[in-house]
Amino acid sequence: MAALTLALSKGRILEESLPLLARIGLDPAGDIDRLLRVPSRNRDVSLLIVRPADVPTYVEYGAADLGIVGKDVLMEHGGAALYEPLDLGIARCRLSVAAKKDGPRPDGVRRLRVATKYPEITRRHFAQKGEQVELIKLYGSMELAPLVGLADLIVDLVATGGTLKANGLVEIETICQVTSRLVVNKAAMKTKHAAIQTLLAQFAGAVRA
Ligand code: ATP
Ligand code: MG
Repeated sequence: MAALTLALSKGRILEESLPLLARIGLDPAGDIDRLLRVPSRNRDVSLLIVRPADVPTYVEYGAADLGIVGKDVLMEHGGAALYEPLDLGIARCRLSVAAKKDGPRPDGVRRLRVATKYPEITRRHFAQKGEQVELIKLYGSMELAPLVGLADLIVDLVATGGTLKANGLVEIETICQVTSRLVVNKAAMKTKHAAIQTLLAQFAGAVRA
């Protein structure tokens, strides 16, 4: 089998990936809390531990043959340079628009300010609705923005809604459902076809199990 490299999204996706990896013999054989490159129990597959937003880049450039990444990150990055053959069904959440519960309703005169880590998805979403908004790029803790008047709305990931509620925010619209996907480098799909197909079949089996 050709040697393969799989880029994993550090953090919550990694946590939810581990049981799947274990089922197909790809458990990390090393300290994933400290190492950035770790062998797996399968000698033919090595693992990279990468920041979630960087996974599409590693796979697109072929530094990794495959990756596990959230649909949110893929949509923001633009997934055209990658194959996305499998929905792993893990790290399930949704991308939503939220606002202050008792906040001033948008008056329709001034442009709404929307704070988000996902400017591209947000721009497309409001453009589709024919609404011109002002985007404010943030890197985390989006819930704070409406509370301090930085933004009227936020676009952020929601799982239970608990964080929104704790901050006095309400979900007003769902943009899309989010799960993690297996992505594959386009060239590797050709040059390492057999090895990748075998791995894809194993992942698909592990997802169904
Ligand atoms: P970084 O460490 O680079 O700041 P991050 O803050 O984006 O990364 P996480 O918050 O772990 O990292 O989110 C990584 C991915 O996990 C997201 O892109 C999304 O696909 C998924 N995710 C985020 N929040 C949730 C949630 N509440 N429930 C399930 N999955 C989630
Ligand atoms: Mg973070």
